[in-house]
Amino acid sequence: STSIQLASRPQGWPTPDNFTVASVDLPDLEAGQVRVRNEFVSVDPYMRGRMNDTRSYVAPYAIGAQITGGAVGRVIESRSGQLPVGTAVLHQHGWSDLAQGPADSFRAVPDVPGLSLSLRLHILGMTGMTAYAGLTAVAGMKPGETVFISGAAGAVGTAAGQIAKLLGAKRVIGSAGSAQKVALLTEKYGYDRAFNYKDGDVRGQLAKAAPEGIDVFFDNVGGDHLEAALDAFNDKGRAALCGAISSYNTTERAVGPDNMSNIITRGLTLKGFTLAAYLGLAPEFQEKMTAWFSAGKISFDETIVDGIDNTVDAFVTMMRGANTGKMLVRVGDA
Ligand code: NDP
Repeated sequence: STSIQLASRPQGWPTPDNFTVASVDLPDLEAGQVRVRNEFVSVDPYMRGRMNDTRSYVAPYAIGAQITGGAVGRVIESRSGQLPVGTAVLHQHGWSDLAQGPADSFRAVPDVPGLSLSLRLHILGMTGMTAYAGLTAVAGMKPGETVFISGAAGAVGTAAGQIAKLLGAKRVIGSAGSAQKVALLTEKYGYDRAFNYKDGDVRGQLAKAAPEGIDVFFDNVGGDHLEAALDAFNDKGRAALCGAISSYNTTERAVGPDNMSNIITRGLTLKGFTLAAYLGLAPEFQEKMTAWFSAGKISFDETIVDGIDNTVDAFVTMMRGANTGKMLVRVGDA
């Protein structure tokens, strides 16, 4: 099996020598275990945080151990009555072509003909549910409100824009890092207005896109985007702080927003969250998303990199913005 392991902790942007592509001999299956051939492996921004040795909501990766995280595949060998050969599964074993372990570390997922298993890693899975939980349980978005979403053309952002609209947002505004992504936001994802943050002056661009102000901010970026949102907020505005990717690979401490006092004077609520605290929403999310998806109301994009050996490259280029929608590694036949 080919397994990607952490060789050393990155300082700033990860480089190839922070990782080892290892060839691992898998032992024979024990009773109750299964072996899975992965079809898609997920690369996610939160993994960058786990490469640091700092306190967070998930433990850091150990040096010399495989990078764990979301993946989907099919059982190819089984010593468990629970998961026969051929079962499609979602699991957290991470960056490798084969995964092996106790059957209860894998979860069978509905195998719908014509529907790629990869969707369980984004729009029908973790990133879709993050968007749903952030807008509903965290920000308490109400119909008729104006919503601003940063990092709008990524996996969470493309889901969040569509969900906000389906839940009755009056206006949804998004920011992303290229002209193509900005066009896609309004043409494919139902955003009312969008701008390219790389054109600069995020504050000014947001003010122009939202002359009526914003009520909800779904933040994937932090930094200049949070500052711009604090200016644009209407009274009683709410922010769901989902991520701060603008600072994940910087070595200097970011300069803070200069307008934090608006939190007081406008009675704002800024609430950070991790999906782990909202897993109870899973049935509600699955029910709503399955209905929207089946009715053809949900679009998605995938940016696919082929070959498990290219996982690190996929991870790093994702954080540089190479992806539209979800960045995935397609494992292919070994
Ligand atoms: P994306 O698919 O959005 O990929 C990351 C994107 O971030 C890139 O495509 C790039 O797009 C953008 N980006 C990178 N650097 C910057 C920057 N300096 N300023 C603005 N945008 C930047 O990833 P996900 O959808 O998986 O995750 C999005 C966010 O949600 C992340 O912050 C992540 O940590 C967070 N998250 C949080 C969860 C939680 O439980 N709280 C769960 C899942 C995700 P562009 O071309 O537009 O720059």
